[in-house]
Amino acid sequence: MNDGAALEVRGISKSFGRLRVLDGIDLTIPGRTTTAILGPSGCGKTTLLRLVAGFERSDGGTISIAGRSVQGSGRSTPPNRRDVGYVAQEGALFPHLDVRANIGFGLARWPAGRKAKRSRVEQLIELVGLDRGHAARHPHELSGGQQQRVALARALARRPSLVLLDEPFSSLDASARVSTRTAVAAALREEGVTTLLVTHDQSEALALADQVAVMVAGRFRQVAPGPEIYLRPIDLECARLLGAGSTLQGRAAGDWVECALGRLPLADSAPFTSAAVFIRPEQVTVHSGTAAVVTAVDYLGADKLAAIRLPSGEVVEARLAGTAALAAGDQVDVRVEGTVLAFASLDALGAKANSG
Ligand code: ATP
Repeated sequence: MNDGAALEVRGISKSFGRLRVLDGIDLTIPGRTTTAILGPSGCGKTTLLRLVAGFERSDGGTISIAGRSVQGSGRSTPPNRRDVGYVAQEGALFPHLDVRANIGFGLARWPAGRKAKRSRVEQLIELVGLDRGHAARHPHELSGGQQQRVALARALARRPSLVLLDEPFSSLDASARVSTRTAVAAALREEGVTTLLVTHDQSEALALADQVAVMVAGRFRQVAPGPEIYLRPIDLECARLLGAGSTLQGRAAGDWVECALGRLPLADSAPFTSAAVFIRPEQVTVHSGTAAVVTAVDYLGADKLAAIRLPSGEVVEARLAGTAALAAGDQVDVRVEGTVLAFASLDALGAKANSG
């Protein structure tokens, strides 16, 4: 089907007027895999997606889809000839068409007979986990999650080489978001389609993607499998974009760092002294004692997030079981499990700049 299909982006830049939005973007997506672009609002994620779709032209660089050049050497293939499916934030379904007709629209110029098209539509309804009883409904008779499944079915209809998903779950509430995400992931896997997903939700990126590309201010900071970035982020910003964590001041020496939580082992030895120590909340455990004080507890259902002030005045976050008996004002001791991350702290960089 789509074996060997892939996206190759090389040296892509884009400015709007004097605003440089993308600055030398390189990205390779192996066929049949999913890559998530994760980054803060306004960093350029949607712009890159729109360039790949062909809705915008880049200022420089090249884009190939499934081995075919679609942008480069002054030439740009129009969106409808790029062999790409696109799902927007809110599915943009045709309001006057029912589910079958919306999905079938994706097959309008598919070179197949009416019977083959009808059977592809039925297959897609099943693929994205839509209730067959809903197939004759119009978009306004569907929930947001069901609408997004229809949008995905339409985008997948012609078996494109590449599917682009632009924050497809951002308009859904928390429970619909997870169930829709699960259905979408299963459909993408079953079709074996190469996918580029844009999101600012790290759990979405980690759940769906084989590869996560962290974008900050129009450049990729780190491109790697999600677990690798979560465990070995290259800087503090990547660490924070992949999930919650507390930052403490520390002094590193080789494989260890000294901070308000004691002498902790480092994930990677540090070639610097003055350090920002980064600790994930699931690494922090709470014990009976009087060294620290709980300043706030957020109850999240399955777990609780506690903010704990250390004698240094610094605050660490701990993730505890939802059933843990802990309240603001409690005195506790705090320990850290496993290795921690350390980054050259801004203080250290500042000192270097001053001494230079
Ligand atoms: P979000 O997560 O909020 O959707 P994003 O990372 O997708 O953000 P983009 O939509 O790519 O960010 O926008 C990046 C920057 O480019 C923003 O500062 C935006 O205002 C600007 N921008 C995007 N499109 C245009 C345009 N057509 N004309 C002018 N500026 C634009």
